[in-house]
Amino acid sequence: MAVFSARRIRLRPFAVAAVLLLAVAAAWQHAGSAKAYDDGSHPQDMDQLLTSVTQDVDAYWTTVFKDSGLPEPKVSYDWIPAGQTAASACGDADGTLGDSAAAYCRQDDTIYISQKFATEIYDGALDQALPGSSQGYGRAMGDFAVAYVVAHEYGHQIQDELGLFQKYGQQLPTMAFELQADCYAGTWAKSAQDANRLDDGDVQEALDAALAVGDFDEGNPGHHGTPEQRAEAWKTGFDSGDPTACGPYLSAS
Ligand SMILES: [Zn+2]
Repeated sequence: MAVFSARRIRLRPFAVAAVLLLAVAAAWQHAGSAKAYDDGSHPQDMDQLLTSVTQDVDAYWTTVFKDSGLPEPKVSYDWIPAGQTAASACGDADGTLGDSAAAYCRQDDTIYISQKFATEIYDGALDQALPGSSQGYGRAMGDFAVAYVVAHEYGHQIQDELGLFQKYGQQLPTMAFELQADCYAGTWAKSAQDANRLDDGDVQEALDAALAVGDFDEGNPGHHGTPEQRAEAWKTGFDSGDPTACGPYLSAS
């Protein structure tokens, strides 16, 4: 597996990541659900959670690629600290990504996620701001809602590795790629469930998060999918546990 921090280049053996993931999970359980992020002073914890999930997702896709005879996927990541920006090759009009960032940038092959944004997802603080949940669809809250976001962005990296943007980018709408990334997030989650690493409620957290980020802006080229479509895509991946089940999202019909 190969994931690299854009701020601190590092490569950990997966065993270390797994131990870290368990340690973080245990720390949060002991802290109690209401305590962990109340005072907003835990950027280090969110940094660790994002990294742990990324390494887990990366290990899953490394196995999938290896089984298919493909070279291991490689990606960098940047967990943008609260109040800071990242100068990405994508970004907004000014070329930077900030406190609301959750993106995969093909041009520099990096996953960017704002630690503030991820913490707000974890805390359930964005329900009035997200298009789906502000309309009563789902909610974004909990560690597996954050994991859903990470696995979705990693799904875009998989699309890049497989050359799907080059192959279909001109003919298919954004939504096709977004729903496939949700589906890919679901296949990873199934692998985590099969390994007994999900808590009760994690599946529902992911489904609720997918509903929450769904939007109704169907006339917009940037439309990502309605709440129902996004939750259905994640579920398609989760129920099958098979990335080939996510192929039809890029069918040209
Ligand atoms: Zn996306």
